[in-house]
Amino acid sequence: MGSEAGGGAAAIDLLRSAAPFLPDADLLLTPGTGLVLVDLVNGFCTVGAGNLAPVTPNKQIEKMVEESTRLAKVFCQRNWPVFAFLDTHHPDRPEPPFPPHCIIGSGEENFVPALEWLENDPNVTMRRKDCIDGYLASFEKDGSNVFSEWVAKFQIKTVLVVGICTDFCVLDFVSSTLAARNIGRVPPLEDVVIYSEGCATFDLPVEVARSIKGALAHPQDLMHHMGLYMAKSRGAKIVDGILEE
Ligand SMILES: [Zn+2]
Repeated sequence: MGSEAGGGAAAIDLLRSAAPFLPDADLLLTPGTGLVLVDLVNGFCTVGAGNLAPVTPNKQIEKMVEESTRLAKVFCQRNWPVFAFLDTHHPDRPEPPFPPHCIIGSGEENFVPALEWLENDPNVTMRRKDCIDGYLASFEKDGSNVFSEWVAKFQIKTVLVVGICTDFCVLDFVSSTLAARNIGRVPPLEDVVIYSEGCATFDLPVEVARSIKGALAHPQDLMHHMGLYMAKSRGAKIVDGILEE
């Protein structure tokens, strides 16, 4: 990130020293690992694609898309399981406090161009969701959970999570999945691993937020760090690197 992006260099240094965490050992990809893609949709990732999309090119988001695409290719080449959440909303059902986004038919709810090929890949289980928390969104009316069923079907012991936003949908999915794991709802899952460079969040600098009535500032680098920190504090592993066998 540039020195001014997402809260400023001094602020991020201060936060990293005030709420530090050490990354876990790089993840070695082995059978029994499943990849979870969180909301790699135009509405959050593609410049100008709606109310919650970046307004200008954003390095953290570009890197997240690049790394997620790279990992999706690795998993699909090996015929390993991939689970993809896609934020998707009915126009008549708002999601406060957020403005309308990823409305069905707008194109915002579909994979970013770099991942469009995933739609027809047999390794991928897609789950459209109208809920921030992907684990919660995976429940069917009969109480079954499609994410838990995917973990069981492929006997997944480790899920590798990438996507957007680090401190919203990624954090909420990871927190709920870890809580569910702890009470035996996601067997045989053992580890939830977040790849830091495969995640991103949005940027709403404090000086911009001040000019928008009711807006909550959201400095990108700071909130990305806090998202990872919170996930780690819930029991997720945070890795800075992925090793391929
Ligand atoms: Zn949404």
